[in-house]
Amino acid sequence: MKFPFIDLKTQYQTYKDEIDAAMAQVVESCQFIMGPELTALEKELSDYTGAAHAVVCASGTAALELCLKIAGVQPGDEVITTPFSFFATAEMVSACGATPVFVDIEPDSYNIDPSLIEQAITPKTKAILPVALYGQPAEMEAINAIAQKHGLVVIEDAAQSFGSELGGKKSCNLSELAATSFFPAKPLGCFGDGGALFCRDESQATLARQLLNHGQDKRYSHAHIGMNGRMDAIQAAVLRVKLRYFDQEMEKRKILAKEYDSRLEGIVTIPKLRPNRTSAYAQYTIQVDQRDELCKSLNDKGIPTAVHYPIPLYRQNVYRSMQIDPSRFPVTESVSARVVSLPFSPFLKQEDLEATVEAVKEAVS
Ligand SMILES: *Cc1c(COP(=O)(O)O)cnc(C)c1O
Repeated sequence: MKFPFIDLKTQYQTYKDEIDAAMAQVVESCQFIMGPELTALEKELSDYTGAAHAVVCASGTAALELCLKIAGVQPGDEVITTPFSFFATAEMVSACGATPVFVDIEPDSYNIDPSLIEQAITPKTKAILPVALYGQPAEMEAINAIAQKHGLVVIEDAAQSFGSELGGKKSCNLSELAATSFFPAKPLGCFGDGGALFCRDESQATLARQLLNHGQDKRYSHAHIGMNGRMDAIQAAVLRVKLRYFDQEMEKRKILAKEYDSRLEGIVTIPKLRPNRTSAYAQYTIQVDQRDELCKSLNDKGIPTAVHYPIPLYRQNVYRSMQIDPSRFPVTESVSARVVSLPFSPFLKQEDLEATVEAVKEAVS
């Protein structure tokens, strides 16, 4: 490929001195596990999002599992979620012994359609798990209202939406619980795996901190079956540097997305933002009729593409035994065959954006 899908190298070069110094400080302190970097990062994440408590952990997947456990999701329960997401969303529901109940999505935002949620609620339903796909928050007000009416917990899978807003509030602070990811390719990425969960009660934060550290309530006293779900201190140090530049990067993301929008409007289906919100543009994703041909044509010119996601979760082999009828998900069926993500990151070069636009135009003409 002529240039990267997400330009992490330029990002590193831009903050190199500060990041190297922050990492070296952790190495010199030899405080690799727990410690002051984590505590400081948690405070900064809670300040940034407005969420009362932030708890950092080993990955977005761990954050999802911890949120589900804090919500009390147990074997036999059902969790309503979207079938159009990365596998971890449904995977962690299943890992808790619960059943993911899929609900189709909105055609414009790609997020769970709130008007279809109530009919999926049963006496076993414990929680609703919307995903802010590609960085755009779901209809959280409507979803929270449904949850309140039925006594359910809402967990936002904000793995792709850290930094976005709905109604002036930040993603990760739009529901009782939220999970985000600091996987390198996410809007705020570390140098390996990392994640965080967000909650409103001190008791939830305490339980999360215990669960991610083997269920320990005091040293060598184990009150729960937990996990090793800790974030390591080097990742926290990297994230603290990147967080300082994050709003600047978000502005660049918005400018670049607008530029793609204006050049591609009328040629392909461009991303649509619903009212009253911003997107973190974890991906810049378009829809075209001949998706695979478009990918090949761009790739042949050295332009990278990615498909998020080609296989709806109810079609995954592991869920075959659920015998879910795909015709119940007309929107997911349609868009999973049509979406393609274009090269995108705050460090995407103007000439590479232009080359991508030209290649898309040529491919669809
Ligand atoms: C990336 C992602 C996750 C998992 O995060 P990891 O940090 O890779 O474990 C979960 N849900 C969604 C929607 C994601 O995009």
